[in-house]
Amino acid sequence: MSEDTSLGSQALFSDAGGMKDFGSGVYMLQLFANVCMVDCGEGVVIFDAGLPTDGWRIVKELRAVSDLPVRYIIYGHGHADHAFGTKAVLEDAAERGHPRPVIVAHENLPKRFDRYQRMLPYHERINRIQFAIPEGIPAFPWDYIYPDETFSGEMTLRLGDITIELRHARGETDDHVWMWVPERGVACVSDFWVWSCPNVGNPFKVQRYALEWAQALEEVAALKPGLMLPGHGAAIAGTAEVEEACLTVARALRYLDEQVVEMLNQGRWQEDILHSFEWPDEFAASPYLAPIYGHPYFVVQALLRQYHGWYGGNPSRLFPASGGEVAEQVLELAGGAEKVMERARKLAGDGRTQLALHLVDFVLETGTGPRREALELKSSLLEGLAAREKSLIARNIFLGGVRQIAKEMEQVGGEEET
Ligand SMILES: [Zn+2]
Repeated sequence: MSEDTSLGSQALFSDAGGMKDFGSGVYMLQLFANVCMVDCGEGVVIFDAGLPTDGWRIVKELRAVSDLPVRYIIYGHGHADHAFGTKAVLEDAAERGHPRPVIVAHENLPKRFDRYQRMLPYHERINRIQFAIPEGIPAFPWDYIYPDETFSGEMTLRLGDITIELRHARGETDDHVWMWVPERGVACVSDFWVWSCPNVGNPFKVQRYALEWAQALEEVAALKPGLMLPGHGAAIAGTAEVEEACLTVARALRYLDEQVVEMLNQGRWQEDILHSFEWPDEFAASPYLAPIYGHPYFVVQALLRQYHGWYGGNPSRLFPASGGEVAEQVLELAGGAEKVMERARKLAGDGRTQLALHLVDFVLETGTGPRREALELKSSLLEGLAAREKSLIARNIFLGGVRQIAKEMEQVGGEEET
């Protein structure tokens, strides 16, 4: 994370937090993703289980505060950073002669695990780009521990004197669960809260659900928790603070949803909607909605995908020619690649980066012309975008493009030498 980002970004993905003790047996282990632990007197409930590499740390930190058996492990959702530290917890139970913890999740989670395993190389590839994970390090989980019990809408567990209410709502995933512990006034909400504009509309990922996300946050607020433990970043304490946080984000999601619905009803198409939706200052300035991971533009993309198919309103583009064919025509009309490069450099100099990129792409897509020069210009334009970009996902996509170009230039260089 760069230095100049806001309050939220410092909290997001911060693994420096370590174990937080909130009293009354409520703990949150703040790692890349948070792991919540509730000591219920007769045993411990773990909510969210971290990355595959987090397992040993979860056991170590838990055993520093409690010797009780872990009775339940609840997966907040099936993402790589929330349901994969389980193995070490099961091994710890076996070593201690404790009963095996019961793993609980929403009924859609096993289907997610099935899909992940069917498409491991694909998920490796997209996660490597999204999180800028270097080659040679696994970018996705390989070991899957499925839940023992699943539920659909709600499920209530009882352990000692403590009630564990699990509620499903679609948000970042279709298998998302949040947990309410009424006796402690604590809501563990997994990625319904991440200290960023909600990551609805991640450019790589399957459909996510803005409106249902908003509804879930409103339900959390209605319970008036004194403490909210999020999927990433610091906890939020205080009934008024939790309520304000949840309702601000819910309001922002509803506002985007309403705009998309209204514009679709007016007969407008995706490109128009993406260029004209509003993101008021109230939201742009909110520490709860910083576009440091998710981004309002991505949210609108997700809403469009949820409510509409992919047709963009122009029949010319229903079965379009390839980009290369179009570029060839443009280059010929412009008087050649050099002319197009000249204009691209002019636009770049004027700070019109996005337009400059489109022109450079015309040169690259034809496969003719000054390729190395075009690649160099594109690389510097992407670096400029990355330097100004607050969203981690968008920034990593730009930087992934820079790395891809460097690779190609190395190959071209190598070929020229031989
Ligand atoms: Zn997460």
